[in-house]
Amino acid sequence: MASWGNRLKQSLDPFIHSIRFRLVLWFVLILGLVMVVFSGFLYYRQAQDVRSVAMARLNFTLDHALGGREHEGAGEQPLTTLTAISGDTPVLVSDQQNGEILAIQGIDGTVLQSAGVLGTAELQALKLPASTWNGVQNVSVPKTAGTARGRYLFISPAILQNNQVSGYLLVGVPLDPNNQLGKLLLSLILGNLVTLAIALTGGFWLADRAMRPVRTITQAARQISETDLHKRLNLKGRDELSELGNTFDGMLSRLQAAFERQRQFTADASHELRTPLTIIDLESNRGLAGHRSIDEYERILGTIQSENKFMIRLVNNLLSLARMDAGQVKLKFEPLDLSEVASEVIERLQPLAHSQGVTLEVGALPETPVQADRATLSQLLTNLVENGIKYSASVTNPRVNISVGQRGVNGNSQAWVRVSDNGIGITPEHQAHIFDRFYQVEQSRNRANSTDGDGAGQESSGTGLGLAIAQWIAKAHQGEIRVESVPGQGSSFEVVLPPDR
Ligand code: ADP
Repeated sequence: MASWGNRLKQSLDPFIHSIRFRLVLWFVLILGLVMVVFSGFLYYRQAQDVRSVAMARLNFTLDHALGGREHEGAGEQPLTTLTAISGDTPVLVSDQQNGEILAIQGIDGTVLQSAGVLGTAELQALKLPASTWNGVQNVSVPKTAGTARGRYLFISPAILQNNQVSGYLLVGVPLDPNNQLGKLLLSLILGNLVTLAIALTGGFWLADRAMRPVRTITQAARQISETDLHKRLNLKGRDELSELGNTFDGMLSRLQAAFERQRQFTADASHELRTPLTIIDLESNRGLAGHRSIDEYERILGTIQSENKFMIRLVNNLLSLARMDAGQVKLKFEPLDLSEVASEVIERLQPLAHSQGVTLEVGALPETPVQADRATLSQLLTNLVENGIKYSASVTNPRVNISVGQRGVNGNSQAWVRVSDNGIGITPEHQAHIFDRFYQVEQSRNRANSTDGDGAGQESSGTGLGLAIAQWIAKAHQGEIRVESVPGQGSSFEVVLPPDR
């Protein structure tokens, strides 16, 4: 029995906790409350009407019974203040069809005479007190033959003879002879129940319809796995849930793109590492295959070392990008002079430029205040100047120029730093991609420098990540990086940063 109860509870539990159920429950509760209050008000107003009609009848019956005799409640006076009538004991004349009760009580409460729907014995059984009441009484009269149902309004003025109370005139009329209030109550209860039943069914139907997209979203979310992010909800319509569905689809698209980028990144990274690893493997095998001259061993070791250096740079760049993507790079913004950072970079790269036969030219370096992170800004400029050196070294009289300045654009001031070279340049179709990760215009060309000579050139061979990192840094500074280049004439990279305010 207990387990059956448990099973029922278990199967009902999801339903009871569903939004659908709670929504409908609240809706029906609130509707029920409103209807009960409204019905109560209606019933109260109707009860008041019924009572005032009964009071008018009571007044009329009293007047009729007294046959036009003076009494204290006559005319405009409300019946409730009536206390006494004077003169002889009235003669009781009653129209029984209206369910009236007329009687005369002695001062001890005995019913002496009656002319209404109840006889003296029945009235006596009601045990109405010898009138000590003042005004109108609402008394429940048992249903006996002839009486209208239930409640009666009674009035009981004292009969005064020679200023002495000689008895009481008892006049009663049914409060609600046609049972209007009972009928109204029944109609209200039935009406309320039917309305609530309709609200309950309609509410469930509506809530079910409204929640359908939520179930679609839940099902779709269940089907989405890490490897399959292709599923979309494609909810039609312009309501809130369709909006939620579309936002969900948008999120899935972004997630899919992010996963795809991640996958591509891992694939590219492995691919980039494969070449140096193969070279190291080949060279070491060559060295181990037989006796070599010292010169040859030196060449083999030189190649292995330079490939290793390339891999170290590649891994460092990969780590930088991974940390950037993961939001682990915390920039420490501080007021800096852009020209000062540029001078430091030039000074540091002077030996490299010299070794490559490239002249590092310093253009205008006015004091240019910016809010920036010194380490990453310095890395950005280093990447650009290194590229300038790398891609101009092969031309005659190679030069790399660095200048810094400030200008106003649309009322805003911008700080800029420009690195230009007279090197090999970049064709327009490549310019759009050079900031992509691992994008290299001509990989063999970049790595070609490396294999000849003593390996010094290898240190500057490309990983295809330098500009991607530079762009990330510029964006992290709310800045941007642009390129202008003419193949065979040279390239110019400009970084724009918001100034220090
Ligand atoms: P890399 O490590 O190969 O230099 P980058 O991301 O720094 O990678 O640059 C991407 C590509 O853009 C390079 O492979 C190169 O072809 C091109 N590039 C970058 N800077 C220059 C430049 N100053 N002159 C000519 N080509 C350039």
